[in-house]
Amino acid sequence: MNTTKSEALYARARKSIPGGVNSPVRAFRGVGGTPRFIVSGEGCCVVDADGNRYIDYVGSWGPLILGHRHPAVIQALQEALETGTSFGAPTEKEIDLAEEICAAVPSVEMVRLVNSGTEAVMSALRVARGFTGRDLTIKFEGCYHGHVDSLLVKAGSGLATLGVSDSAGVPASFAETTITVPFNNLDAVERAFAAHPGKIACIAVEPIAGNMGCIPPAPGFLEGLRELCTRHGALLLFDEVMTGFRVAYGGAQTLYSIRPDLSAFGKVIGGGLPIAAYGGSAEVMSHVAPQGSVYQAGTLSGNPIAVSAGLAMLRTLQANPELYSQLEETSAALTANPPAGVTVNRVGSMFTFFVTKEPVTDFASAKTSDTERFKRLFHWMLANGVYLAPSQFEAGFVSTCHTHADITHTREAMAAFFESETRG
Ligand SMILES: *Cc1c(COP(=O)(O)O)cnc(C)c1O
Repeated sequence: MNTTKSEALYARARKSIPGGVNSPVRAFRGVGGTPRFIVSGEGCCVVDADGNRYIDYVGSWGPLILGHRHPAVIQALQEALETGTSFGAPTEKEIDLAEEICAAVPSVEMVRLVNSGTEAVMSALRVARGFTGRDLTIKFEGCYHGHVDSLLVKAGSGLATLGVSDSAGVPASFAETTITVPFNNLDAVERAFAAHPGKIACIAVEPIAGNMGCIPPAPGFLEGLRELCTRHGALLLFDEVMTGFRVAYGGAQTLYSIRPDLSAFGKVIGGGLPIAAYGGSAEVMSHVAPQGSVYQAGTLSGNPIAVSAGLAMLRTLQANPELYSQLEETSAALTANPPAGVTVNRVGSMFTFFVTKEPVTDFASAKTSDTERFKRLFHWMLANGVYLAPSQFEAGFVSTCHTHADITHTREAMAAFFESETRG
């Protein structure tokens, strides 16, 4: 496979951009080798600078549930461009998108639009603190909530792969506001509440972990978190930046019938453009400025171009519920009977092939994966035209554009890899 142009672009990029990328995991540090510079995407495929074509299971890290360049999204963007790019004043489409989100997610009565998942979680956390008058947060090892200062503690994927347990530049006093406990471990959560009575503002959780690879909640785990928050007067914050509108139209909270107090969304709601949101009950969200005293703002928040793309994406999903059954079916076909030595976790169209025999239920068990073998798998798949996430500790995504032929090709390439490994 010729990668001359990607190599040249990577060398050039490293001179003007730290590490040559605008988000660390894109640099392939978790797998080695040269990141592919992408020139175009269509449906479930992307094409790199050297003209190599790949079946894409990254989907821009989650947003592209309808594949690249979905006609409804492209048309909405073209129409929006005719009217201007940004006004810094309210527009009707922002109400449409807010109403669409509120209608889809039972726990959300009011929502504020922001520009990234990080911003959504950071703001929701501030609301939780403002609402409760408390400072501490419980989070789970391996869960990632964006690069929010206080939450960059045992934060999964990028950090896990880079072997950095924490980030430089975060004041110790910020990190100290976060208590980390193992995912799927209610006893540890209970102990954290007991150790800090009346101090915990919220539990922040990915209801289905995606940033240490895909790890579903154990039966009763989310129900237990709900119960503990209610009992201790803390808010339950579901970070649905990855799962929202992905595992079900109303997100993981609809799938599992849990009502969090606050939710963060991103990825799918932007249709591939930078948009995110946080919301909750009218009572909680009335604390947000200018209605309330928790300050949060944004020059480009609710940007009309991004809102148009997100709205087109959500309306397409809402009007075609069979798309979720289709995703379930293709994703099930992809992950059925994995090769020996592989544990596969999947919820809907979110999945991870862990190169381990152990069941993966938390960060510690995710780390039993053979990351060296994963690297070889990753490059084998790439050479065979399949673009997996370039890290063992990431979720992959199936889009509505993946066909059975794509799935079959992917499965055959993977089977061939494990066969070649056993032959030595
Ligand atoms: C991607 C992600 C974020 C961060 O979103 P950005 O748009 O990258 O800032 C936060 N939480 C979860 C669960 C995510 O998957």
